[in-house]
Amino acid sequence: MREVLLDEPGRPLRAGHAEMRRPGRGEVLIKVHACGVCRTDLHIRDGEVEAGHLPLILGHQIVGSLADGRRVGVPWLGWTDNDCEFCDRGLENLCPNARFTGRDIDGGFAEYTVADERYLLPLPDDMGDMEVAPLLCGGLIGFRALRLAGDGARLGLYGFGAAAHIICQVAVHEGRRVFAFTRPDDDAAQLLAMQLGAEWAGDSMALGPEPLDAAIIFAPAGELVPAALRATAPGGVVVCAGIHMSDIPSFPYSILWEERVLRSVANLTRADAHEFLELAPRIPIRTTVQEFALEEAESALDLLRAGKIEGAAVLRVQQP
Ligand SMILES: [Zn+2]
Ligand SMILES: [Zn+2]
Repeated sequence: MREVLLDEPGRPLRAGHAEMRRPGRGEVLIKVHACGVCRTDLHIRDGEVEAGHLPLILGHQIVGSLADGRRVGVPWLGWTDNDCEFCDRGLENLCPNARFTGRDIDGGFAEYTVADERYLLPLPDDMGDMEVAPLLCGGLIGFRALRLAGDGARLGLYGFGAAAHIICQVAVHEGRRVFAFTRPDDDAAQLLAMQLGAEWAGDSMALGPEPLDAAIIFAPAGELVPAALRATAPGGVVVCAGIHMSDIPSFPYSILWEERVLRSVANLTRADAHEFLELAPRIPIRTTVQEFALEEAESALDLLRAGKIEGAAVLRVQQP
């Protein structure tokens, strides 16, 4: 099969051929149709998030089919022990023994992959392979972040890429007012935000037109944390939704004071995934996708690093 490998962090991905893996007990072989490219793939590629093994096949937003033709999704959460205090409390996203697709388990930047059957997700029928792929990480983890941001009406989204362009649609559907905070010169992201129902788009380091009830930070830039706290009203919540962020600069206590809450979101649970994938076609969510061939994975990561992907990057891997 064709595959793209990370040999070593910091080095470009390498396209190659390999034997197909054989599914073990409880696992299934999946023919990969499409695989979304996530910022976490870039963090692993660049060595900011540690690879579980090397060489590694990245990719954790996999849309594919089983031998019986059934279409399935494979997300970031690939395995948990179902036997720890977190799993017992419904917090499998925090399982200390969890294994993640495209980090600990070879992922979807390949024509075929193998996954634990219990972690497969059903996909909405009326969304195509390319269109549905970004829902499997940006959508799912963004949705968990939105839930943890509370019910406030005025929602700020910091960084308007794959996750934010999906979550904006959910928030607007819920009747919230969305404010998109981007780099001041990112006209494409600001335009996309306004097209998707945001009522304002502007500079992420400045205050918005009115205080926010909640903010979700998708961009991996620590300086956005004090910026978002400053933009948030008393009692508001700031959620950091990424797996990695540059260091957060120190900030005066006054911008956290008055019961503002600062928290992170880690990974996803299968319950989040089922709830979100059931909701997505009812909104309906429409994703903006920039398409790449499997062998162009490295170029897709380059463009993502440079902030030049509009919406989400998705690899078209092979015909169903
Ligand atoms: Zn566990
Ligand atoms: Zn991801």
